[in-house]
Amino acid sequence: MAKRPSQKGDSTRAVHGGERERRYGDAVTTPIFQTSTFVFQDTEELCAYQEGRLERDEYGRYGNPTWRAVEEKIAELEGAESAVLFASGMAAATTTFLALLPKGGHLVTTSDCYRRTRQFCEEYLTKLDVETTVIEPANTEKLAEALRDDTTLFFTESPTNPYLRVIDVAEAARVARARGARVMIDSTFATPVNQCPLEDGADLVIHSATKYLGGHNDLLAGVVAGPKAVVDPIREAVGVLGAILDAHPAWLLLRGLKTLALRMERHNATAQRVAEWLEAHPRVRRVWYPGLASHPDHAMAARQMRGFGGVVTFELDADFDATVRFVDGCRLPHLAPSLGGVESLIEMPATMSYWDKTPQQRAAYGITDSLVRFSCGIEDADDLLADLSQSLDAA
Ligand SMILES: *Cc1c(COP(=O)(O)O)cnc(C)c1O
Repeated sequence: MAKRPSQKGDSTRAVHGGERERRYGDAVTTPIFQTSTFVFQDTEELCAYQEGRLERDEYGRYGNPTWRAVEEKIAELEGAESAVLFASGMAAATTTFLALLPKGGHLVTTSDCYRRTRQFCEEYLTKLDVETTVIEPANTEKLAEALRDDTTLFFTESPTNPYLRVIDVAEAARVARARGARVMIDSTFATPVNQCPLEDGADLVIHSATKYLGGHNDLLAGVVAGPKAVVDPIREAVGVLGAILDAHPAWLLLRGLKTLALRMERHNATAQRVAEWLEAHPRVRRVWYPGLASHPDHAMAARQMRGFGGVVTFELDADFDATVRFVDGCRLPHLAPSLGGVESLIEMPATMSYWDKTPQQRAAYGITDSLVRFSCGIEDADDLLADLSQSLDAA
């Protein structure tokens, strides 16, 4: 397993990051700053702020002490100089693309990808004449072929959704940098506990904080982290585009982050057990989990990651109807989109994200009728296995 280079442990940073240096009213926790604007004593103070002699808050769209604490905590966890918070993972991705891509520019992304991100590239970036080249995931040779002189960005998830493909971040960064392109990794499925793409050479890391960072299936948020010089124009863009996070969910995220390392330990352990159990089950055709030796990127993942995450994807040896019976027969995991929370969630990509696609289109995306994505919560693994077992038998 990869080792984390920096000094303080994940839990210490998760608890204290961004908060220890500041105290509000002697409180141990950071309050919710439920305010839309901030008061200046007088015009002299206002001018000092405008001239950059004074750092402080001005108006709610440009900053709030609650979200600054979250940004600094995530920056510490990612080993980043700077981080910026958004209203959702999609807001983080779209604002970042708009901030970094020039008109008529070029972007490289992968086929195994969050569906709405791909839709943004196909339906919105094309309005700015930005071209997107889609390559197969986790393939740095295909990346080298796809890069052009005008490529600004290579964007990929790692691990990807739903097949959990893992890219060699250091190699992707080397290949992209040689052509003047930046690398942005969507690390939502991993979290900074399991991997730090910036330490491996990526320029930016992005998360749907809705998932593990928040961790409780109770908020939507997004974050981008990286060097200050790269993050600053993105921060400027969120001030213009306005997809900011309100102080209350920011505070829930701050609270959720404190247990991130603890939760990931459980998610990683449970998913490994579930993946091994499923792989040995006669009614399961195939399992995708980077912690299994059978996964195509297992060796890469073992070098680069410190844990393999809480999502297990598998294909039943069954048709569509029997797969539906299995999913509906599970009593502990909820049938719901999303992942990364304390409650286990289960879904069939064919009836969830790819519902409106024809079977042929689904096949082109690699989504089969008996594919299931299971997000392990923090329930006891024995209970989850017993539930999966009864539902597999009944289906
Ligand atoms: C959920 C998700 C997103 C979108 O994030 P939201 O917070 O729902 O907007 C983007 N990328 C990945 C990998 C995701 O899982």
